[in-house]
Amino acid sequence: MTPRPLIAGNWKMNGLLRHLTELEVVAGAAAEAGEGRDLLICPPATLLSASAGLLFGKVAIGGQDCHAEASGAYTGDVAAEMLADLGATYVIVGHSERRAIHGESDEAVRAKVLAAWRAGLTAIVCIGETEAEREAGETLDVLSRQLAGSLPDGVTARNTVVAYEPVWAIGTGRTATTGDVKEVHDFLRQKLTERFGSSVAGGVRLLYGGSVKPNNAAELLAVANVDGALIGGASLKGEDFVAICRACP
Ligand code: PEP
Repeated sequence: MTPRPLIAGNWKMNGLLRHLTELEVVAGAAAEAGEGRDLLICPPATLLSASAGLLFGKVAIGGQDCHAEASGAYTGDVAAEMLADLGATYVIVGHSERRAIHGESDEAVRAKVLAAWRAGLTAIVCIGETEAEREAGETLDVLSRQLAGSLPDGVTARNTVVAYEPVWAIGTGRTATTGDVKEVHDFLRQKLTERFGSSVAGGVRLLYGGSVKPNNAAELLAVANVDGALIGGASLKGEDFVAICRACP
């Protein structure tokens, strides 16, 4: 059985209170656009509480990152427990922007996955190769290393989602070809199967992310072993996010 698709929006460091009108659009369309799919919005932490109020019971909300510890002297950081406290059920970890800008290693990402699980959240674990790595023919090696290093033992279909996000496709308007996406997603499913067994691996959702837009979502989401999408820029407009949800087979 193929997993139930997940369409997830990542607002990154965008959005003020006045932009919550975009979430009203999503909430209004959620019953129909979410038919047979799970919908998720990850707003900035500052908007989580207000988003939870708007989306409650219609669309899940999630954090964009969490600290590995539950509390303590970590100025500016947010614990997984704090996200859960506001109604979040997911948290993105290991996004390429955090790996590149904040120097997060696979080991650090793995600690965050454990923190997410500790708080009862589903971790969306991002992996992806850079353009240089792709051109050097290292894509599958890089993904294999990131997957092995970022996932702790204990993965289940409920507690973990894996997002394949080629770094060169994020925010650039360039997308991987459907052939490239298929090759990578088939490979990731195989790697998960080798480590966690087929019944767990078959249920873990594999998202594609990288310049998914209303005009390319249908073909990307139709690829075998693609169980949804992680959407950055296009999730900022409620109508675009809803159009992508509707494009999901
Ligand atoms: C992302 O940041 O996870 C992402 C996929 O961004 P975009 O859709 O803007 O490429």
